[in-house]
Parts: sequence; structure tokens; C-alpha cells
Amino acid sequence: MKRKVLVLEDEENIRSFVVLNLKRAGFDVIEAGTGEEALELFERNSDIMVAVLDVMLPGIDGYEVCRTMRARGYTAGVIMLTARVQESDKVTGLMTGADDYVTKPFSVVELVARVEALFRRVGGLGFQEDDAIRSGPFKLNLRAREVTKNGVKIELTQIEYGILKAFLSNIGKALSRDDILEMVWGHHYVGELKIVDVNIRRLRIKIEDNPAAPKYIVTVRGYGYMWEG
Ligand code: CA
Repeated sequence: MKRKVLVLEDEENIRSFVVLNLKRAGFDVIEAGTGEEALELFERNSDIMVAVLDVMLPGIDGYEVCRTMRARGYTAGVIMLTARVQESDKVTGLMTGADDYVTKPFSVVELVARVEALFRRVGGLGFQEDDAIRSGPFKLNLRAREVTKNGVKIELTQIEYGILKAFLSNIGKALSRDDILEMVWGHHYVGELKIVDVNIRRLRIKIEDNPAAPKYIVTVRGYGYMWEG
């Protein structure tokens, strides 16, 4: 199986350094210097599984690239490279459909580890489980990594899919933010718990009949969340 990664970064020094290290780690890497170029590469390479997107770019920025690729239905895992450190910016990035972010200046070892971790979640080979999990109007297909509601496919990022899978594998059981972080992001993840809340907020918009009064993913106050089922 090819492990194709797209690296979008306008600063050539940083880009070639990241590309070199990802290649050393065994990835098949394609690169872009502008957001426009990255979107073109997405059109021509449907097998891109992870994209590393720099935010600050000369043309359209990394958030716009992410938003556009999600709008076009691309489900690749996305890691944003952000120079900004404000919480609101991280949240903005995640709301555009990114799965993870790394703040500049970053260690390339950490970035490669994040790409690896995202790949493990996106790759999803060799299921031993049943093909599908069902709950109410929802059906989660483990092989296709797809979720439908009343037979209609819901467009999800890989992280959102991972969260739904965690819930549907634990129907009626309260999961703490730590549980969810571990199940979805993996125990190597060193980010903040807030990333869980941000993704759940986004997920509710996609799956709930009324996101303001969620009845599937309910909040367990002071603890985490639970799938009511
Ligand atoms: Ca840049």
C-alpha cells in the first residue's frame, strides 16, 4: 500500500527538509509551494492520504486549502502547520476540517510522528471486526470507513470518523475526553483536550437533527461524552 503524503509549504528550505525526512520515514511524498498548486495535486492524486498544510502562504492560505478540499469531498488526514499560537486560531483551523496542527517552529521528528499517527488512523487495514456497526438511523461501515444516516452518506474527516467509531463501539458508555483522545488520536498525542470538544462540536453539526440540542452525542458534565444510541 502506498503511503502518499502531500506537503504544502512555500518556504523552500523548510519544505525540502520536511520532504526529505518524510521520505526517509518511508512515505511517498509530493510537494506544493502554493495552495492553488496543492488543490491541483489533490485533483490528480486521489490516493493522497495525509496532507501537511502550511497556513501562511502567498496566495490562498492553508485554511482556505483545507476548507476547499473538504468542500470537494477529499477525506485525507490534514495537519496544519501554524505559526500562530492563539487558541482561537487553533480552533479556526480545526473548524475548517483539519485533524491536527503543529506549531512553528516545530521539530521535524515530531511532525513525522504526527504524520505516522494520522496515517495509522487513516490507513485502517486488516479489520477483524464485523463490517458494520448500527445504532438508530446510523450505520458505520468499517471497511469503507463510511457513516450513513438513514442511508445517506455523511461527509466526515478521518478524525470525525474515528470519534464516531469510538462512540459506536461504546454505546451507552460515558467516555472521558482522555478516553476519546487516546482512542482517536493515539497515546502518543501530546496536544490539548480541547481538540476533542472542537471535533465533537463539528461532528454534532453533521450528525445531529438539532446540534443545539444533541440527542446522539450527549455531554456528560464534568467528564466527557456519551453515545445515547
Ligand atoms: Ca509559509
